[in-house]
Amino acid sequence: MSDPILIVGGGLAGLTAAHRLRRAGVAFRLLEARNRLGGRILSVDASGVAAADGFDLGPSWFWPGTQPALNALVCDLGLAAFPQNSAGDIVVHRMSREAPQRYRLSTQQAPQSMRLAGGSGALISALAADLPADSIRLGARVTHVTRDAQGIEVKFTTASGSEETMRVSYVLFAVPPRLLEATVTFSPALDAATAERWRATPTWMAPHAKVFALYEKPFWREAGLSGTAQSMAGPLVEIHDATTASGQAALFGFFGVPAEQRAAIGETALVTAAIQQLVRLFGPQAASPSGTLFKDWAADPLTATPADRLGGGPPTATGQAWVSDAWRDCVSLAGSETADFEPGYLAGAVDAAERAVADMMSRAAVAR
Ligand SMILES: Cc1cc2nc3c(=O)[nH]c(=O)nc-3n(C[C@H](O)[C@H](O)[C@H](O)COP(=O)(O)OP(=O)(O)OC[C@H]3O[C@@H](n4cnc5c(N)ncnc54)[C@H](O)[C@@H]3O)c2cc1C
Repeated sequence: MSDPILIVGGGLAGLTAAHRLRRAGVAFRLLEARNRLGGRILSVDASGVAAADGFDLGPSWFWPGTQPALNALVCDLGLAAFPQNSAGDIVVHRMSREAPQRYRLSTQQAPQSMRLAGGSGALISALAADLPADSIRLGARVTHVTRDAQGIEVKFTTASGSEETMRVSYVLFAVPPRLLEATVTFSPALDAATAERWRATPTWMAPHAKVFALYEKPFWREAGLSGTAQSMAGPLVEIHDATTASGQAALFGFFGVPAEQRAAIGETALVTAAIQQLVRLFGPQAASPSGTLFKDWAADPLTATPADRLGGGPPTATGQAWVSDAWRDCVSLAGSETADFEPGYLAGAVDAAERAVADMMSRAAVAR
């Protein structure tokens, strides 16, 4: 039997690639460094544990009208979507010495942002449910890829800290290129231009942190507010209603405080300041959440590198090849940042994975 195809990374891109290979009857193995699947998709319950009806510490929205491949996957997997709550007034706080102002929007948000019932994690659970359990290994972080006369050897560390190797016929790296360049050694080495391109590609949203305040009920809706707020006064710059499809009430916000400052301030002080801000924007009922959740993606070494802590926008699609000649016939990049369509987004993860699988199928002698 020939060596298997390896997918590195079990986020949306890696699992979409696995799903496509499975449907095509192609055997594969998937190595995921974390002890969970999903990558930047992370839906958790009130205690912060990954859950079937979760709050989205990573992505929450998609736009079915403009993201046909992602929407087709959502429909194919039979997942239910619901609109981001935007009914009611928005609150805008321009500067700390002025009071926040309330505004009624005359037009509906377009395109409508949609959320998945159960959280974005529903996409990951549905994809994983369709895959053979023995094809996926968690806690396996790839560190080296070596090409020799016999083929490709992949070295990885396991959850227990031991090192293992595996021979594979092709590698689909479903990992942000910047993280890949910083953490995986290629022998022969990547050429300088490729390495620089991977390093220079920002990992979308990696510099950011989200906070959630959970409440017994969505009290802001009763006051005619949508839960949407924009603030130039901070520490949160953008706030939204995060109430789940099953009715667990919550507000979430993105911090405007840069990653290095967040690290210096610390989670407790940041969350306290965020709740105080929610009181200023939504009133005294915001003061007593039943719980809070916090996730700083810039501090997560399986998403961000030190370069991501400096900020950065979404990557741009250039149409250039992602892999240099020495590796092109046995390696493809499949992470969202390498997509031709909406790189960095969920839709980009699906686009990149589908493109990478198609590339591989056209290049490699596929073991069936
Ligand atoms: C806070 C936040 C909000 C966002 N909001 C939205 C939104 O509303 N809408 C939207 O469309 N997009 C949003 N995004 C972007 C979206 O999350 C990503 O586009 C998408 O999840 C990327 O999927 P991916 O599989 O390409 O990468 P990832 O999810 O990053 O998956 C990569 C996987 O590879 C694993 N890995 C890394 N290195 C190794 C290694 N050496 N060996 C083995 N495994 C490895 C990681 O653990 C991870 O599981 C948001 C992101 C964040 C962080």
